[in-house]
Amino acid sequence: MIPLYGTRVSLRTEPDRTKPMQRRSFLLAAASLYATGPISAWAQTRVPIADVHTHYGLISRKLPDSGLADDMRAQGVALVAWKHVADGRWIRRTSNGIEQVREPAPGAVARFFNERLQLMQAYASAHKLRVVLTRADVDACVSGDAGMVLACEGADFLEGRVEDLRAAFDLGLRHLQFVHYIRSPVGDFQTAAPVHHGFSEMGKRLIEACNTMGVLVDLAHSTGVAVNQALEIAKAPVIWSHGWVDTEEGTWRDSSGLLRRRLSLAHAKKIAARGGVIGLWGLGAARPGGPWNVTARDTQGYARELANLVNSIGADHVALGTDIEGVGPNWVVNNYADVRRVIEHLEDLRLGAAVIERVAYANYARVLKAALAS
Ligand SMILES: [Zn+2]
Repeated sequence: MIPLYGTRVSLRTEPDRTKPMQRRSFLLAAASLYATGPISAWAQTRVPIADVHTHYGLISRKLPDSGLADDMRAQGVALVAWKHVADGRWIRRTSNGIEQVREPAPGAVARFFNERLQLMQAYASAHKLRVVLTRADVDACVSGDAGMVLACEGADFLEGRVEDLRAAFDLGLRHLQFVHYIRSPVGDFQTAAPVHHGFSEMGKRLIEACNTMGVLVDLAHSTGVAVNQALEIAKAPVIWSHGWVDTEEGTWRDSSGLLRRRLSLAHAKKIAARGGVIGLWGLGAARPGGPWNVTARDTQGYARELANLVNSIGADHVALGTDIEGVGPNWVVNNYADVRRVIEHLEDLRLGAAVIERVAYANYARVLKAALAS
């Protein structure tokens, strides 16, 4: 087992711009990461990848022939937060974002969740992917096993019952995003008019339950008010798995889905100050030149935004939350070879090797381990 936060990862949080990193020295540095560990299942010269938000094989691809397991192994992907979309059957994509189309029947969202988690478990088992349940599993994944963190986008499947989190935990759930696009008893979300003033009482109790049980709390899609409340309650670092960061926060009145899904820099810094992590998504904006200056297929732009966020909030708090299959046709990355290219662009931008390691996988490994109960 290699130490995740050993001496190799320095405490410096800004990119090292004083010493341009040679690719060779980065490769040597990456190789030394494994010097004390078991023979890695992947090439020892590559930094592992963690994706803190992916729907790979769950939305546009058919899971059995998605190629997910092979892609993860080929590209050295250590960990993915593999997200079932809780409300996926009750929403639709419009030219201007995503919206709820109808109200689910009682029990339907819970049944959908159970079916899909069993399907995900079966895929992991058939392809010998490790399902991450404990801190030791996180370490094993970083050492060379490809691992799936079973995750859900939206806590809608609880249908308002915090006590049902136990059954989800027993199905392997370890990373839970609280809200998504359908009206929710959990709390307010960025793309619709608020009704709870942040999180509901149920939502607040759910944060406590996640902390007690050992489930990572994911605040993506939550309103700024809800983020503030969550940070007051949470006893473990939280993640904002996907979206982007702007000077101001988005509101449901904004003119596009891209604008509504902004996290304010102040909230990003607050999440970071409590040890949390922000994942930037792989969504291409319709036009270049905006504050999220990344267009479809623009892996260099994606790397640039990651580097910019490292500059604003520090290297310990930035991660890749690709949203593969979730971002629609304007995707920037659609598989892990694309993500590997983003990592190579970070090398080209001369971020230090220790900074790249953190963004590529170590930050997710850290918050996940901090959240897990054992
Ligand atoms: Zn989302």
